[in-house]
Amino acid sequence: MKTVTYLYPDAPPWGSTTAWKAAKWNLDYLIRLHRPELDRAVNFAREVQVRLESIFPLMDDLCAVTCPWCPDPCCLAAKVWVDFKDLLFLHLCCRQIPPAQLLPDLKKTCRYSSPRGCTLPRITRPWACTWYLCPTQMANLRQKTHTVQNMFSQAVQAIKTGRKEMEAEFIRVVS
Ligand code: SF4
Ligand code: SF4
Repeated sequence: MKTVTYLYPDAPPWGSTTAWKAAKWNLDYLIRLHRPELDRAVNFAREVQVRLESIFPLMDDLCAVTCPWCPDPCCLAAKVWVDFKDLLFLHLCCRQIPPAQLLPDLKKTCRYSSPRGCTLPRITRPWACTWYLCPTQMANLRQKTHTVQNMFSQAVQAIKTGRKEMEAEFIRVVS
């Protein structure tokens, strides 16, 4: 079983309900306070959104031919969570924020996993969940045309870059 381990060594950030609400409140507050200066950050977030939406059909296709028959669903073991860029992206794009962090601690299973897959809309899932392709899906992707594979690689790279630019611009404005 594949285990996705993200950036934090000990525990997910904002794992408690209180910490999650505080993180959302703080971001809301900062965005309201600085909104006139945040146009560039918002534009970066919107570009990331467009790029994400461009790969969702491919992700849906890959999932449709692999996940329903998976003997060992990755989400049951994944140690991933919403990070700062994910949370900022959702706020800047005015997306619905999930009601809680994925994991309160590393011993738990993602609260959004279900027997029918992830219960979060793709756009609100952490980036770590979106870009991950298991070996079966990678093999499936390699069967696609070069055009499709290149489109996917370019979109992933653009999203990574866009997320960094969005975060850097936000920090520049609020610092
Ligand atoms: S992404 Fe791969 S490992 Fe995860 S549930 Fe789908 S088929 Fe299984
Ligand atoms: S948020 Fe969804 S895709 Fe990500 S680990 Fe949880 S169930 Fe899986």
